[in-house]
Amino acid sequence: MYTYDNLKDDIAYLTFGGVETGSIGKSLLGNDIYYVHVGQKDAKQVIITGGIHARENATAAAVVLQAYALKDEQTKLGFYFVPMVNPDGALLIEKGAAAMGKYAELVKRVNGGDDFSMWKANARAVDLNVNCDAKFGQGKGNVFFPSPHGYVGEYPFSEPETAALRDFTLDVRPIFTVSYHALGREVYWQFGDGNRKADKIMAERIADFLGYKKVDGELMSAGGYKDWCVLSGIPAVTIEIGDEKVGHPATEEKLRQDIERNLRLPAKITELWYELYESGNIRGV
Ligand SMILES: [Zn+2]
Repeated sequence: MYTYDNLKDDIAYLTFGGVETGSIGKSLLGNDIYYVHVGQKDAKQVIITGGIHARENATAAAVVLQAYALKDEQTKLGFYFVPMVNPDGALLIEKGAAAMGKYAELVKRVNGGDDFSMWKANARAVDLNVNCDAKFGQGKGNVFFPSPHGYVGEYPFSEPETAALRDFTLDVRPIFTVSYHALGREVYWQFGDGNRKADKIMAERIADFLGYKKVDGELMSAGGYKDWCVLSGIPAVTIEIGDEKVGHPATEEKLRQDIERNLRLPAKITELWYELYESGNIRGV
């Protein structure tokens, strides 16, 4: 299992090696939501996130390994890697309710037991990937009470984790974002009517590169980070890493082969960006 402590070790190691790292803000329990920056600072930027769902914290390992793979290469873009958007959720899975401070009783009650291995939400049982301002509360599977998954929260961006991610995104103004989830070996790209022809081709080419399936349509999704990015005019994809068959919780061990497949995606995104968006060949609509 890839833990929050593992991430802190990786952040320390990368920082020691001269890589820029930092925090986009704090979680509900005051844990840093770390970022790693690799590549050009004065170029266009891409944001890659993982670990927004607690039980999918192995996606954090995938994102960190991408940063390691890219750090010694030349790239024309800049990449902000935010490996673990939901550190409290990862700590809950690893250490149980006792690690949730004043929310310990709440998570136990909501979960109905001590086995948190299927938990997706944050420390007060809000699902961060339905808490963003994108058709808030209209998604399939949304619920309106604290829950291990699907609770939208009181209002859009009510949680410190999603508010931090929003502010960071508005600050960085990325040209593209990738949100890692598990499982399914799928690439989701559409939301609302703001999608352009190049976005579709981008999703198609990413799916081809990974050997995953491109999935069209928003499929009653709402409130996701990728959904909000697309509505905000930022091309974005959600990548469901790993074969459905391995089942949840999707540990790093189970995802090893897929993490390997995704390792060089940042370089591929750079290549595709210049081919599709900067070339003038496939522009707009
Ligand atoms: Zn997820």
